[in-house]
Amino acid sequence: MRAMVMNAAGEPLAATERATPTAGPDQILIRVHACGVCRTDLHLLDGELTQPSLPIVPGHEIVGRVSAKGARVDRFDIGDRVGVPWLGYTCGRCEYCRSGRENLCREARFTGYQIDGGYAEYTLADQRYCFPIHGAYTDAEAAPLLCAGLIGYRSLRMAGDAERLGIYGFGAAAHIVAQVAVFEGRRVYAFTRDGDDDAQAFARELGAAWSGASGELPPHALDAAIIFAPVGELVPLALQATAAGGTVVCAGIHMSDIPSFAYHLLWQERTLRSVANLTRRDAEQFLELAPRVPVRTAVETYPLARANEALARLRDGHVRGAAVLTMENA
Ligand SMILES: [Zn+2]
Ligand SMILES: [Zn+2]
Repeated sequence: MRAMVMNAAGEPLAATERATPTAGPDQILIRVHACGVCRTDLHLLDGELTQPSLPIVPGHEIVGRVSAKGARVDRFDIGDRVGVPWLGYTCGRCEYCRSGRENLCREARFTGYQIDGGYAEYTLADQRYCFPIHGAYTDAEAAPLLCAGLIGYRSLRMAGDAERLGIYGFGAAAHIVAQVAVFEGRRVYAFTRDGDDDAQAFARELGAAWSGASGELPPHALDAAIIFAPVGELVPLALQATAAGGTVVCAGIHMSDIPSFAYHLLWQERTLRSVANLTRRDAEQFLELAPRVPVRTAVETYPLARANEALARLRDGHVRGAAVLTMENA
């Protein structure tokens, strides 16, 4: 099979021929049809995520069909369409796993980081961490739901019942979360890079009540804000835009250093928190909700061999919605 492989941090992905893997007892072999390109993949390639199992096939927004399965697999049949997210394994025994917080499992392993992912024609996944994909979505449209959607959904839940919701960084996750937030009756305030008129217009098309530059203050103080851009400077800006008692959620896996800021930005019971990974419960809830909204994903597709180009466009902030790799022979 063909795969795009990360051999070392700082290097482009290498087009590589590999043997198609064989499913273990709890695994399904998936013929990959589409795989989303996530900001996390850039952090991985840049060496900002420090525990990859190299060489690794990145990609943790996988949609494909089951082409073979292990002896203990009972959740899926050959031919079923499945999605594979970032969370690829948990121990099931630690205090986090036993308290509904498997996203924090001490032994968790992640797709496209420690487990080979979807930048390939085939991939293996543990059936317990895979999900059926609703028929309303094409393969490419469904792919961004599996990380941008899931992590975005978890971040939205962490924002509580905020009516006025700020979103900093209007990429793949934001374009999904905005639709869910509007569906839930919230008012969305979208913050983008200064002068990014396309992203600001895109946010308003998706129902945002206001959009502007991240350095601006919104017309009303926010009840909560979610920061998707990996930029630490946004934290004090978001706190400044947030009302007393509000919450600022840092949704990314990596962020540049947060500059020091005056205590009064946090005072009045503002909360600053991060969101890490996802639980399978998040996935079940969001994948059930998405077609009811209905969430529509905007995708730019690239053939597998052009993965480096897709990553470069994401890095430069040129992707409208989400970038997705597709397999020509799917
Ligand atoms: Zn655990
Ligand atoms: Zn991701």
